[in-house]
Amino acid sequence: MALVNDHFLKLPNNYLFADISKKVNAFRVTHPKADIISLGIGDVTQPLCPAIVEAIHRAADEMATRQGFRGYGPEQGYDFLREAILKNDFLPRGIHLDVDEIFINDGAKSDTGNIQELIRWDNSIGVTDPIYPVYIDSNVMIGRAGVQQDGRWSNVIYLPCTAENGFVPQLPDRRVDVIYLCYPNNPTGTVITKQELRKWVNYALKNDTLIFFDAAYQAYITDPDIPHSIYEIRGARRCAIEFHSYSKTAGFTGVRCGYTIVPKELTAASLSGERIPLNPLWLRRQSTKFNGTSYISQRAAEAIYTPEGRQQVKETIDYYMQNAHRILAAFRALGYEAYGGQNAPYIWVRTPAGLDSWTFFEQLLYGANVVCTPGVGFGPSGEGYIRFTAFGSHEQTEEALVRIEKWTKQNF
Ligand SMILES: *Cc1c(COP(=O)(O)O)cnc(C)c1O
Repeated sequence: MALVNDHFLKLPNNYLFADISKKVNAFRVTHPKADIISLGIGDVTQPLCPAIVEAIHRAADEMATRQGFRGYGPEQGYDFLREAILKNDFLPRGIHLDVDEIFINDGAKSDTGNIQELIRWDNSIGVTDPIYPVYIDSNVMIGRAGVQQDGRWSNVIYLPCTAENGFVPQLPDRRVDVIYLCYPNNPTGTVITKQELRKWVNYALKNDTLIFFDAAYQAYITDPDIPHSIYEIRGARRCAIEFHSYSKTAGFTGVRCGYTIVPKELTAASLSGERIPLNPLWLRRQSTKFNGTSYISQRAAEAIYTPEGRQQVKETIDYYMQNAHRILAAFRALGYEAYGGQNAPYIWVRTPAGLDSWTFFEQLLYGANVVCTPGVGFGPSGEGYIRFTAFGSHEQTEEALVRIEKWTKQNF
């Protein structure tokens, strides 16, 4: 008899985005003529830029020849990409990495989910709240999160990020073994300053805490004081693993490529107190369970770092950020409390009149035919907030804002 991993059964089977589409479909059935606009999408919509498409064509043509054909690549990724990453994403910020500290992946979701395999099941886990659900769910699946009660997992330490604390999480009042941080943040769109991030690194060094830092949105940072990488902070190489993704940077949600940094100095303890370097452990894990990201995707990613690639990728990000600025300004002008949207493609809005997230979601859907994402779906501290995304077209975003304005003035 095969016994199931029953930790999976603890996962709530209501998946946020499935619940949203169920409600949107129910609305569609009763309002077949309604033109629904989604400001809830968590996926990019603009096409790949020409420099990337050309690189994909070139790589495909190479694969069509006997000399250019590539089979299994190196598990850690091709040197051409790892060197481009070193030279472009880190050296200009004064960060010196070794190519062996870079692991090319097929997107940050896999690695942010898989990385917890490196630590024992009985480590304590801390997350900022609200949060990208992958961090917690991947720990639930291995039995590390405990049991769920009232939307909280018994073995997870939640660090609330709300308007009351300016979305700056308080350092935990006890020691925590592992902490997940994501900046710029999904879902709140808020950022962390160097000074605040330094406090986290110092906490981690003092308490022997491992930080998993998700930098998936670093390309959206425009403010010069906001760190793009945790390694901009002295000492972070001894306490942090960092995840990057080309998904939001360059529209790679369907191409699939990103990378993970595991510094060589980074260690965790064995039960006997020996310090074990995590870089070789992750290499061992990857070479056993991962056969690399496709050559074509890696050539596509390399093209992001060419002068044309950089320029074109920046234009797309600017396009989304124009939406972000418009959404933020429109909500503020209507008297909402709205956050984020300045160094991130997400705008986090407090619901008016103390409505809960799902009630506001339904009222906005029925009243303005606009879809948003209920904040409570990202964790208990998300209750009373909703998330809007900047990934729509300019036209649809404008139209949605016109409707929201009219609807807000009629109702609040
Ligand atoms: C979109 C996103 C990712 C990236 O996922 P990919 O697997 O690279 O597409 C990672 N972290 C967060 C917080 C995200 O929102």
